[in-house]
Amino acid sequence: MKTELANNTRLTECVIDNFTNPQRDVQDYWIAIYGKNNRLDHNHISGKKNLGVTMIVGLDTEGSRENNHQIDHNYFGPRPTFGNNGGETLRIGTSYQALENSNTLVASNYFDRCNGEHEIISNKSCKNTFKYNVFYECTGTLTMRHGNETLVDGNVFIGNNKPSTGGVRVINAKQTVINNYNVGLTGYRFRGAFVMMNGVPNSTPNRYVQVSESIVKDNTFVNCEHIQLCAGSDAERSAPPISSEISDNIFYNDKKTDLFTVYDDISGIKFENNLTTENIDPGIKTGFVKAEMKLLKNEQGFLIPTSDAIKKEIKISSEIATKENTGVNWYSKKDVAVALNSGKVIKVEQGINTLFDVAQASEPGDIIELVEGGSYLLTKTVQVNHPLTFKTVGTKKATILFERMMAFEIQNGGSLSLENLKFDGAKSPDYAGNSVISTSKNSMIDNYKLFIDNCEFVDLIVNHSFDVVKVSKNTFADTLSIKNSTFKNITGHIAALDKETDDLGAYNVEYLIMKNNTFSDIQGAALRLYRGGTDESTFGPFLEVDHNVFDHVGFGKKNKYKAAMSLYGVQVNDITNNIFTNCEPMEMYLVVGEPIVNVLNNNFFNSEEIKVTGDQKYTIQKTWKVNPNFEAGTYQLSKKSELVGKATDGLDLGIIFKN
Ligand code: CA
Repeated sequence: MKTELANNTRLTECVIDNFTNPQRDVQDYWIAIYGKNNRLDHNHISGKKNLGVTMIVGLDTEGSRENNHQIDHNYFGPRPTFGNNGGETLRIGTSYQALENSNTLVASNYFDRCNGEHEIISNKSCKNTFKYNVFYECTGTLTMRHGNETLVDGNVFIGNNKPSTGGVRVINAKQTVINNYNVGLTGYRFRGAFVMMNGVPNSTPNRYVQVSESIVKDNTFVNCEHIQLCAGSDAERSAPPISSEISDNIFYNDKKTDLFTVYDDISGIKFENNLTTENIDPGIKTGFVKAEMKLLKNEQGFLIPTSDAIKKEIKISSEIATKENTGVNWYSKKDVAVALNSGKVIKVEQGINTLFDVAQASEPGDIIELVEGGSYLLTKTVQVNHPLTFKTVGTKKATILFERMMAFEIQNGGSLSLENLKFDGAKSPDYAGNSVISTSKNSMIDNYKLFIDNCEFVDLIVNHSFDVVKVSKNTFADTLSIKNSTFKNITGHIAALDKETDDLGAYNVEYLIMKNNTFSDIQGAALRLYRGGTDESTFGPFLEVDHNVFDHVGFGKKNKYKAAMSLYGVQVNDITNNIFTNCEPMEMYLVVGEPIVNVLNNNFFNSEEIKVTGDQKYTIQKTWKVNPNFEAGTYQLSKKSELVGKATDGLDLGIIFKN
């Protein structure tokens, strides 16, 4: 009964591990806290993988407001990348209660790789305090999404240079960010080491309230890459911070000179007495002093900047969370995931279904070695239930033929690495829609990895739409990598990752890598990557397409994309050093998130144009050679504008902007 609330209770020394609904897109919370004066401490909460926040504080009625809850010394274990909004670890309030006081204390908790989405914590109410928490390799930020008078004091953010790791993101009024220590955070845009956002003028509670009367003081940033001011500035978010202060912070960096990105007017922020290493150019006129600094390891193991110019000692509280003083002492915090190639080597004879049998008997991480030059026929699909590697050792690849609609099916918990193998479609059934590798048709709650290296795929032509990789809705790849491989004579796509079509920000892969491959006579697209909608809660997809040759790609009648490569909503587009010969165009549709586009040194010979469209702001990096008078920077595309790169036979791609 929601009307009968728990008050003055304590939940302590409980473990919730991997208690996950197997259906990825079904929403639930694990812990919901209502009432007043409740304490949750020393719990171990790990491995939520489906839609929905791990822990919420609800403020629905008066009886749950000004609650003085205390959430302390909990161990929040790994939460993998969710690939959609709704992967937060903690949320306090909602936009409906943005102006209610919650008065919740979140202290000395350890957040270990809480990577669900870009809000590790989503603070959505007033007067909450976050103290002495550690965020270890978490992608995203502690986000002051709604509500005022938040105190973020004495927390530690450790990135270890992992991608998308961030610190604190400030929105709203009267926010205080002090004494936090940040190290090795690499995230940019909304997951920078520190982010202060632009607001919406007279914002409704569920958009972005302008930053005002906020203080950012005495924070330390060691080798963090991005400080983002007025982030999110666009036609709607046009109100920069006012009456705010950034002072007495220390910025140490031994490599990077340009940490600060300023997206709008910063005259409403008073900068005072911030200290930087001598190499840093803040690009902000006043309030920064350069000093010679050294790093010294303190007794807790943190690298602390030292200098005569630092007047106030940089201290990390003895109350700071550690893996040891959080959670329970009777339950292990060790990772249980098994990596690819970590098991034993099993040699498999050539023949019929020998691969199927050996896979059935295998254990996680095993490496299955095929006979050099051998021939393997599958009349049954190999079920990949755990991380498995198949490879030929030697120069002559083993050949795999298959009589079912797919050779390999990755099931929940599975990951697959294929090395030095040849796949031939000669024995495949005469059906439309075959594939070499497919994911389960059912929801896969565990993210998977797929690596294809030094393989050959030929004559997948028995019927139309024969793909190399086929994925299903509610599946998500952490990494899909295709390297050093050749693809010839194929009726379908090489990889179409486009099954999340609800346009709510979901997608099928985080990192997609295509390197040093040749694709020839491919009727479908070499790649289709799709992330629809305008949600800004996620990081990817990240795409790297480098040193490939595309020859006669995309002309099949069944290729509905009418493109050799079709990219929609991809956040980072690195497309470099490729040759497109006799191909359909490469298409890019740029949506939310100021996508980064690096298109450099591609040769388009006798091919269709590269087409770039979109209705959002996007960033052209310096490496995109543009022509003429089109400089690196951030641009707003109107709904109808179009960037068209003309096909040339030189190595420099000329880009012409057309409205
Ligand atoms: Ca979110």
